[in-house]
Amino acid sequence: MLDKVLIANRGEIALRILRACKELGIRTVAVHSKADRELMHVRLADEAVCIGPASSAQSYLNIPALISAAEVTDTSAIHPGYGFLSENADFAEQVERSGFTFIGPSAETIRLMGDKVSAINAMKEAGVPTVPGSNGPLGDDEGEILATARRIGYPVIIKAAAGGGGRGMRVVHAEGHLLSAVNVTRTEAHSSFGDGTVYMEKFLENPRHVEVQVLADGQGNAIHLYDRDCSLQRRHQKVLEEAPAPGLDQQAREQVFKACRDACVKIGYRGAGTFEFLYENGEFFFIEMNTRVQVEHPVTEMVTGVDIVREQLRIASGLPLSIRQEDVELSGHAFECRINAEDSRTFMPSPGRVTLYHPPGGLGVRMDSHVYTGYTVPPHYDSLIGKLITWGDDRETALIRMRNALDELLVEGIKTNTDLHKDLVRDGYFQQGGVNIHYLEKKLGL
Ligand code: ADP
Repeated sequence: MLDKVLIANRGEIALRILRACKELGIRTVAVHSKADRELMHVRLADEAVCIGPASSAQSYLNIPALISAAEVTDTSAIHPGYGFLSENADFAEQVERSGFTFIGPSAETIRLMGDKVSAINAMKEAGVPTVPGSNGPLGDDEGEILATARRIGYPVIIKAAAGGGGRGMRVVHAEGHLLSAVNVTRTEAHSSFGDGTVYMEKFLENPRHVEVQVLADGQGNAIHLYDRDCSLQRRHQKVLEEAPAPGLDQQAREQVFKACRDACVKIGYRGAGTFEFLYENGEFFFIEMNTRVQVEHPVTEMVTGVDIVREQLRIASGLPLSIRQEDVELSGHAFECRINAEDSRTFMPSPGRVTLYHPPGGLGVRMDSHVYTGYTVPPHYDSLIGKLITWGDDRETALIRMRNALDELLVEGIKTNTDLHKDLVRDGYFQQGGVNIHYLEKKLGL
């Protein structure tokens, strides 16, 4: 087992990783910016190193500072969490070159999946269903671009190969707008991501966002941990998630689980990962793979009993998966509400001092949060201050528990989006299950 892990992240996920390390008897190193001295995991870690000023660019994204911190603390491995450098292949490479273990897949795999065109091609080859599209980057020949769109059928979406975070995409409904849309997306992709490569996909009008969690040990074993539905999104940002995804076509679902496992083996995947799909009319369409632990991983943990971060640490230690596919049993249903320090209506961030914090409790209730009474939410980072997760024998019970838990949650001194969640968990369509990715924005009148 790894001896000492440096947690290259902050907030709730840093605390989540610290807890898993402690359970396994792994010593921990917290790294933090000058604005984050008061973080809960910094207090609890065996060692703490300040890696720079408040700005992420100079701290959590500062590769030399992170590697130096690993060196001075004699760390054996680095856990990148999510966001920040978690999907940066150069970081993974430098970590390994400096003699540390990167807790995640190889730099090569991160690179393959980081470019959406190569990711889609790799998935297609491995038998994972993809969105009908240009089968590669768009060239310069205008006639060819027009012909590709005609073959796929309008509407189409132009996407940057290097895009991420919901940026670098443009929907085209009619031929007259196609060429200018391709040009604008190219220019934007070039300036935002340093790579002007774009490709074309059929634009699915009313899909759901369904994703499959996988674990692979890089020793030939790969398992899936079923699916999650993350269709409730605002500006492509997930707001509320659940596992399993309700009401899917069972045959398509089984096929996609198998395809994801096969793909992991085929590409030599190592670690935890997520295959993201759009799901429409009983069919799955791969859009991208995330090569890290995801914010919403707890809903999967609640319905499978598998500790995903623990498995990441075991895999990075060179151990085989501790569970076989046939041992993974799906039990009950789970929801997760992302609690953000922001206004429920305007979505404006609301940093500041938390004067009172009271997390909900009871059977089937889990709160993953780094907040405590007296903690000050800094203005420099993502506004996520916690994740409220509930589990129940069935979807209805889990939802009732979520309603009650949201009523119990007290966060005073700053604004949070709790009221939005309270509203959502009482929404009639959401209660039925299976709303599509536009539902939340439509409900909000956006
Ligand atoms: P990112 O890496 O920026 O998150 P994704 O490829 O995952 O980009 O797409 C983000 C979101 O954009 C999806 O969740 C979906 O809402 C929308 N989207 C992407 N591709 C399509 C498509 N072909 N049809 C309809 N919506 C799409």
